[in-house]
Amino acid sequence: MKDRLLSVVIPAYNEEDTVEKTAGTVAGVLRSAGIAYELIFVDDGSRDGTWEAILRAHERDARVRGLGFSRNFGKDRAIFAGLSGARGDCAAVMDCDLQHPPELLPRMYDLWERGFEVVEGVKRDRGGESGFHRLCARGFYAVISRLAGLDMKRSSDFKLLDRKVVDTLASFPEEDVFFRGLAAFVGYKRAEVEFDVAERTAGASKWSFRALARYAVTAVTSFSTAPMQAATVSGALFGLIALVTGILYAAVGQDAEGWLVFLGVMGLLAVGWALVCLGIVGYYVGRTFRRGLGRPRYIISRECGE
Ligand code: UDP
Ligand code: MG
Repeated sequence: MKDRLLSVVIPAYNEEDTVEKTAGTVAGVLRSAGIAYELIFVDDGSRDGTWEAILRAHERDARVRGLGFSRNFGKDRAIFAGLSGARGDCAAVMDCDLQHPPELLPRMYDLWERGFEVVEGVKRDRGGESGFHRLCARGFYAVISRLAGLDMKRSSDFKLLDRKVVDTLASFPEEDVFFRGLAAFVGYKRAEVEFDVAERTAGASKWSFRALARYAVTAVTSFSTAPMQAATVSGALFGLIALVTGILYAAVGQDAEGWLVFLGVMGLLAVGWALVCLGIVGYYVGRTFRRGLGRPRYIISRECGE
């Protein structure tokens, strides 16, 4: 038995059908690889029997622990709660639906033992996702990778982190945490392990379009102020159009009515765009505002396991 402890953090939202199977499978893999482990399920305010399933998994295996949120705070915050509670010398993060293959954990652990501090699972293939979803995901990661200057095109939340990295991440004060981005941002000695995204074992994906949109906004505003700079650039562009229009009118302007219509349309466009820009700035101001309030990132209302 290897003596260094691996914590496995598993966020779970409405996963009553998968918790016990996942606990059994992950524990089985680690036991046969001789790796000392603890499994930390973080119930992200589920509305089904997820918490009871965690309690049953704990009855069966005392190395299963549970943290329960007082309401749904989102996957990334659940991951951070699990990392903050992890006691291992290293900690892995994986989904509750076995889409991240547990069989890879021993290989990731092995790379960690060889000195890698961030071992990342990278997707070889985006599993059973539809063409549209795949297209959105690809576009999103291309944009965020560019804005943040971090390569996240194939990245996933399936990772194994050294204790140092866990402590670094846990010390970040921001309320809106974007795990994938922050895990890329911190640096450290890195290795990659490829995996194929498996089909979900049971239950359904928890991401609504709204949740995905919120995720994208958190991701972009976490790493870049480029959208605000885009406001400046587009403002200058509208100014330029106005100038050119004015010059053209002075030079060739006979049909006053046509010009008026053109100017009216341009004016409306400019006002609309200005409001969009105001909204963009609003997101950043909102983040600063929430940071000023200093509210906790999540609220843990129950725990199980030592
Ligand atoms: N999840 C969570 N909180 C949420 C949504 C999802 O903790 O608000 C968990 C979920 O239980 C699962 C993981 O995040 O363990 C990935 O979610 P899902 O399988 O629904 O996402 P997908 O695989 O479709 O991207
Ligand atoms: Mg899934």
